[in-house]
Amino acid sequence: MGLRESDKFGTLAIHAGTHIDIHGSVIEPISLSTTYKQSSPAEPLGAYEYSRSSNPNRKNFEDAVAALEKGKYGLAFSSGSATTAIVVQSLPQGSHAVSIGDVYGGTHRYFTQVANNHGVDTDFTNNLIEDLPKLIKDNTKLVWLESPTNPTLKVTDIKLVSEIVKTINKDILVVVDNTFSSPYLCNPLTLGADIVVHSATKYINGHSDVVLGVLATNNEAIYERLQFLQNAVGAIPSPFDSWLAHRGLKTLHLRVRQAALSATKIAELLSASDKVIAVNYPGLPTHPDYEIVKKQHRDALGGGMISFRIKGGAEAAAKFSSSTRLFTLAESLGGIESLLEVPAVMTHGGIPKEHREASGVYDDLIRLSVGIEDVDDLLQDIKEALEAATAK
Ligand SMILES: *Cc1c(COP(=O)(O)O)cnc(C)c1O
Repeated sequence: MGLRESDKFGTLAIHAGTHIDIHGSVIEPISLSTTYKQSSPAEPLGAYEYSRSSNPNRKNFEDAVAALEKGKYGLAFSSGSATTAIVVQSLPQGSHAVSIGDVYGGTHRYFTQVANNHGVDTDFTNNLIEDLPKLIKDNTKLVWLESPTNPTLKVTDIKLVSEIVKTINKDILVVVDNTFSSPYLCNPLTLGADIVVHSATKYINGHSDVVLGVLATNNEAIYERLQFLQNAVGAIPSPFDSWLAHRGLKTLHLRVRQAALSATKIAELLSASDKVIAVNYPGLPTHPDYEIVKKQHRDALGGGMISFRIKGGAEAAAKFSSSTRLFTLAESLGGIESLLEVPAVMTHGGIPKEHREASGVYDDLIRLSVGIEDVDDLLQDIKEALEAATAK
């Protein structure tokens, strides 16, 4: 397949990592074989030996994600959480890490309840830009951030963070969890990050039917170390899941664009409503980080995630989230179908109230993952649920 340097996102999404097999199949078959024939000892016929080390469907998916993230190398894992674990586990004993405060709950749990037992200590801050110079120590090896954050959708200037970190010590790795943006909105490797990680369970697969993680990098030494761990630890996705995630990725640009356009209209409706206290949506010019969004996101799109505070407290939030017709009350995000949740009692229920509220997660906060249903129907659904939740 002759892809060109100049090929744009949609072309790469469809064609990167795809190959025509010996039958001429336009879509590659699912290769379930666990082992591959060798012509003489240690002389494999093709590129593969044993399926944990590598297999065709996983390799195709890894190549496709690398292309969309403008990276040379991709590596897939059995979940986003396994991807995080492998990256953090690649650090030597006695290392120190700095992480953004309102990081994904499972990432916080890994840093504070697993990595610490393996000799990696982490400091958290909600103000990376200001605090990095104070927090970075001689043994700091990694800075971890997520943008936009979950569920309050704060956007961090990735280029500025990378510059600050590399000025202090160019060997410190900058890792960006790009799950909420997806490679369509933002490519952290082009902004100075060393590694970009995804829960492909969300936008990349996009159909809420696969749990899978993936990372990309341009650094060969990092790639070799992480590929070694991918094989040594063995937390790998199956050929079938890799194939499904690759199929999902081919429509990433269409799905994310539509979700962002619909989310913008929904965020505008919520902002204008007298039943709403505040709206967090990075695509609104009133968002405090909108200047960063304009530099960092494709076409200044805000993505498919919104959170907002409803009037009437926890009770109204509960009523709203059980009154929608099209938005399904469920955890997770980034699929074709619209979902909603109440973070204070669902995804962020384990965090003490003061901590939660310090980062904006109040009892009345509702998080929406906007899907790709017709936007008029979604708007009507939100309007009716607002009425139902605040009716006397
Ligand atoms: C879901 C999620 C993860 C964890 O991914 P899994 O595939 O569920 O293990 C990590 N980071 C972010 C931002 C997520 O939303």
